[in-house]
Amino acid sequence: MRSRREFTRPQKVAMLKRAMDAHGNIRCESCGLNITGKVVEFDHVIPEALVLDKTHALSIEDGRVLGRDCCHRAPGTKTTRDLAAIAEAKRREARHLGIRPTRHLTGRGFPTVPPRRAASRPLLKPAAWREGFADSPFDD
Ligand SMILES: [Zn+2]
Repeated sequence: MRSRREFTRPQKVAMLKRAMDAHGNIRCESCGLNITGKVVEFDHVIPEALVLDKTHALSIEDGRVLGRDCCHRAPGTKTTRDLAAIAEAKRREARHLGIRPTRHLTGRGFPTVPPRRAASRPLLKPAAWREGFADSPFDD
């Protein structure tokens, strides 16, 4: 696999100009926050790790200007989801190649016990207290 492609300096300039509003403020291209003077990231719209054909040069259409704090590295945002997608792609590839995840907890586990049904089970022997009533006047 070829290494990660990076945007060139002129491409970064062009992307920053694209992200700039009429007042000259740089806007995050995801959430629109004013990120002038903040740390910006040049985000790959398709994560490089998922790009199979890296023979084509990147264009500025392959990237977005994101604020690092608002959209790029915050929890639940794009980079986090990208990492999950990359991890899933790697697992899928490993499965495809026949590599299974290691099974843990391979002991016998707990035995299966049949339900006791103590309340509905028929009596196997007469209850001891019934014996005193064997000659009960109430019997036929
Ligand atoms: Zn943002």
